[in-house]
Amino acid sequence: TSFAHFNFDEQLMHQIRKSEYTQPTPIQCQGVPIALSGRDMIGIAKTGSGKTAAFIWPMLVHIMDQKDLQPGDGPIAVIVCPTRELCQQIHSECKRFGKAYGLHSVAVYGGGSMWEQAKALQEGAEIVVCTPGRLIDHVKKKATSLQRVTYLVFDEADRMFDMGFEYQVRSIASHVRPDRQTLLFSATFRKKIEKLARDILVDPIRVVQ
Ligand code: AMP
Repeated sequence: TSFAHFNFDEQLMHQIRKSEYTQPTPIQCQGVPIALSGRDMIGIAKTGSGKTAAFIWPMLVHIMDQKDLQPGDGPIAVIVCPTRELCQQIHSECKRFGKAYGLHSVAVYGGGSMWEQAKALQEGAEIVVCTPGRLIDHVKKKATSLQRVTYLVFDEADRMFDMGFEYQVRSIASHVRPDRQTLLFSATFRKKIEKLARDILVDPIRVVQ
């Protein structure tokens, strides 16, 4: 597979070319077409596999397909991950590729300033990258709303469970409209993750790195 198979538009292809990636990684070859089709997906993949781009590129297509973009209405895509570092890393990839379309990404994570994050959320962003507890805090304080979210990603789900975020992960899933697209990434696929997938995904396709 080459990048041309994904049928991305010229703006996104331009950003990919600037990254100097020569070809899609295996998880991208398998995952991108599934995510583009709108199906729910379970990706069993580790850091270093290129999994981040595998959910970010289809996310950008998803967002650009939505009509009447109003930045103030709350995010269209939410990416939930376990740590501040991962949050910042994913956020920077969102900015890098989202620039192609003038999209805005905000990162909200535990340990960062509530006030500054709330301000950034209120300025409006189509993409929010977050750790679970902090997103819930902002929703409770009405700094943002999940009502418009139709693309929901849980990255490193097994690590989130190890860190004790299962309740928060489930709570976020239950507060996002049921007609969303959901993608779940995990390095391992243990019983508890399998159960989570059954509870929050609809008829998912599973890809293994
Ligand atoms: P990830 O597994 O998403 O954390 O990505 C690991 C690293 O691979 C990141 O530094 C990406 O920028 C890079 N990367 C992602 N996709 C590709 C690709 N198709 N070719 C080469 N590097 C890539």
